[in-house]
Order: sequence, then structure tokens, then C-alpha cells
Amino acid sequence: MDVYSLPMTTRFRGITEREGLLLSGPAGWGEFCPFTEYDDREAVAWLAAAREAAHDGWPAPVRDRVPVNCTVPAVRPEHAQRIVRESGCGTAKVKVADPGAPLSEDLERVAAVRDALGPAGLVRVDANAAWDVDTAVAAVRALDRAAGGLEYVEQPCWAVEDLAAVRRAVDVPVAADESIRRAEDPMRVVRAGAADVVVLKVSPLGGVRRALRIAAETGLPVVVSSAVESSVGLAAGLALAGALPALHHACGLGTASLLADDVTDAPLRPVGGYLPVPRSAPDPVRRGAVAAPPGRAAWWRERHDRVAALLDAPARPR
Ligand SMILES: [Mg+2]
Repeated sequence: MDVYSLPMTTRFRGITEREGLLLSGPAGWGEFCPFTEYDDREAVAWLAAAREAAHDGWPAPVRDRVPVNCTVPAVRPEHAQRIVRESGCGTAKVKVADPGAPLSEDLERVAAVRDALGPAGLVRVDANAAWDVDTAVAAVRALDRAAGGLEYVEQPCWAVEDLAAVRRAVDVPVAADESIRRAEDPMRVVRAGAADVVVLKVSPLGGVRRALRIAAETGLPVVVSSAVESSVGLAAGLALAGALPALHHACGLGTASLLADDVTDAPLRPVGGYLPVPRSAPDPVRRGAVAAPPGRAAWWRERHDRVAALLDAPARPR
């Protein structure tokens, strides 16, 4: 087991270094990288996903490449246009509702992104649960006009009931992201009528096969997204996106650029807006070069062992 530490190009979830553990098995490499604040019980699904990659491999794909979105943070319009043009992506995800920033800046940014993408491009916005229902309804209508049509709005509010209320009030489709953190969440979102699209991540859902079952149960279009893993973990996300019977939206898997380094010398970075669907994770040949300091490596190994004990424990009789 190798523990890596990769510097991030931009602060994300308050962290500047992404850490995780790589494990290998007969099928290749898997990545175990639950965010450090998650408790052991929550990390069990992440380990199941890593073991699936290392021991079982993934189901056969039905497509060999996956469209991905570029991500536009809360930047000025000219900068936003540069990001879109340099990405080559046909879909842009635009961050809105940044704390303290007025709606007018979001409107300028989405208009600039539409300009850069052209009429055939798709603009989605992500509010990361920042709004209340009334603010969301007004903002989504205004953003939809400024963008010349939105593909969808991602997580306008925090609570599932609030997502449902926004969805009833606006014509723009609603995607659930933060509302889906555990395997039982997607059906909760569906039952509440809270979303038109579900954002699914392989690691917190416990693996590619499990995520495929969950996707089928929801009956909703899926956007596969990363948890900002190294290219080993991204490969699992691509395996899911590659194996979904239908893929209607670009995926949020173009996140390797958020990391300043990678565990492989062949990082999964999109070309022309697409990523290939790999049959296994890339060989993490750079794992020695990006090894975490001994104290952090010990922390991750201990965490792995505790979580493995939970995952391997026989089900308790009731
Ligand atoms: Mg999101």
C-alpha cells in the first residue's frame, strides 16, 4: 500500500494537498481516499470501491470515450472565456453563488461563457447549496436568461425538500450533487421529486457495479463526477461513465487539472473535451515521487486497517 500526497492547483474543500492510499490486486490498482473528516463508517464504501478496482476489475464498457465538462470558478468574464476556449469542452460548469459575490457577477460570467461556447454549447451552473428557495428561484430564472438557456442548475439549495420546491418553480432542470453522499441518498432524492439529474461518484457509492445498480434504480439521467482523485480513482469514474447504458450529459471527470501532480505519468486529462474509458487504472509509476511524509502515511495505513476491519466484519446477527 502506497500513500500519496498531491499538491492542489486551487484550494478545494479547504485543502491544498490531496492525500490517499493506493492498493493493488490481481485486477490492477485502486484508490482509497475518503476526505479526512469522514469517519471510518462512512469510509467503508470508499474502500469497497478501491477493492473492486484492485481485485475484481470493472464491467465491460459500452462506449470508449466520455464527454467531460470544463469547470469555471468564480472568476471575471474574460478569464472565464479563456478557461472555456482552452478546454475544448462543449459543456461548461459555471460556479455561481460564491459567498459575498453579487448575482450580477454570476450573470456576467454565464453570459461570457455562452459567448465563448457558442449556441451549440451547454452551460450548467453549480450553486453548491448556497441559496434558499426564493433566492434560488429568482437567480435561476435570471441565469437562464443570461446564459441563453441553462442545461441544468446543480444543487441550488441544501435540503432535499428545498431542491424539490425550486424544481417545481423553475423550468430549468435541477441536478442533485451534495444531496447524494451515501448509497441510500439517490432514491431519497427521487422519492422527494427533488431532481431531474443525479450526480454520482464511484467512491462514496461503493464501486462501479453498485453505482450502476443505483443509477438503474433512480431511472434518472446520471452525471458521473469525481471526488478529486488521482488518475487511478478517475479511471473508476470513467469505467462507470463508460458502462452506463445511456449517457445524456457531459461528466465531471476532468478534474486531474485541479492537482499539480499525479501518481501516473499518463494523467487522465481531457483532450478536445473527451476522456478515454480505460479497462483498468493507469499504473501509478510516480507513487514513489509523490509519497506522503511518514507521519501521514502511517495515519492513512491505520485508517485503512480500521475501515477494512469494518468492511470485513461478519454481519451482526439481529
Ligand atoms: Mg457540484
